[in-house]
Amino acid sequence: LDASGKEFGTEEQQVERALRPKALEEFSGQPRIVDNLKVFITAAKQRGDALDHVLLHGPPGLGKTTLSHIIALELETGLKMSSGPVLEKPGDLAGLLTNLNSGDVLFIDEIHRLNTVVEEYLYSAMEDYRIDIMIDSGPNARSIQITLNPFTLVGATTRMGLLTAPMRARFGINCHLDYYDVLTLKKIIHRSADILGLEIFEEGASEIARRSRGTPRIANALLRRVRDFAQVKGDGRIDEAIAKYALEALNVDEYGLDEMDNKILSTIIHKFKGGPVGISTIATAIGEEAGTIEEVHEPFLIMEGFLQRTPRGREATEKAYRHLGVVPPMQQKT
Ligand code: ADP
Repeated sequence: LDASGKEFGTEEQQVERALRPKALEEFSGQPRIVDNLKVFITAAKQRGDALDHVLLHGPPGLGKTTLSHIIALELETGLKMSSGPVLEKPGDLAGLLTNLNSGDVLFIDEIHRLNTVVEEYLYSAMEDYRIDIMIDSGPNARSIQITLNPFTLVGATTRMGLLTAPMRARFGINCHLDYYDVLTLKKIIHRSADILGLEIFEEGASEIARRSRGTPRIANALLRRVRDFAQVKGDGRIDEAIAKYALEALNVDEYGLDEMDNKILSTIIHKFKGGPVGISTIATAIGEEAGTIEEVHEPFLIMEGFLQRTPRGREATEKAYRHLGVVPPMQQKT
């Protein structure tokens, strides 16, 4: 597992694919996004138009890639996938674009990592479905304009703040994915257990859901690790006891906080007396980009009540102190 719960290895990837919802109806949570996409997709299909370009942003593991697949499936069109760092030259992009059929979806993950030249090249493709291609070289070099089939670009990013204004402006549909609540995660865990043929009890699912950091990818990954414990140490069924036992053994934080979350809280508490402290000061102390902390890690800590944003900076809450086993200063004084 990496920090976001993303997994490596082909077997794991196959399981992840099997667990992926294949229709908007199967996609749990994010109700506003789902309802709006239903309308936009139906309208585009009725008109026979390509769907407007879609920007999906939010922390890793919340379903951006899954939604891009679903969009193509619901539109009944083809899907081509790429990512920002892979598209190094305009030629890489031109190859993809000229191979799209009418109405197809082109998914670009980590779209904030496109280099400027490629990004600018993408603008005219998005806007007018046209690109310029250089042919020949030396004195014979000239550019010809190619008209593309109408297509839908689905861009995904964890770092909305790094997207340029002109790029953002070219997406007609803009969706921010939020962390999932425990009830929705439970539903996702039950669905995944069904697909994997596992027997799971309510309390077992709750225990996993609570520790999944609001993230479906982590929920699915924990479910599979708990399954191993149930198989070897139990009777194969996932109840509360085996789930608790497995999550302790896996050293999963009781609130699902990951290493970086804990590092941020402990830095604020131990190095900056609990704050308030500026985000860039925290970033320097930890050796992480301020923007990444702000967009990827902080939202979960704030949502769960570990961190507070004040005009003078970030402050650790009482809950954060207690979580790290430190007596809160509010109590030290009394
Ligand atoms: P992202 O692209 O945002 O990093 P993914 O789309 O790859 O996230 O989702 C990670 C995993 O979590 C997928 O394998 C999928 O099975 C699961 N998942 C994500 N969102 C949902 C959801 N709303 N309902 C059910 N499963 C989901």
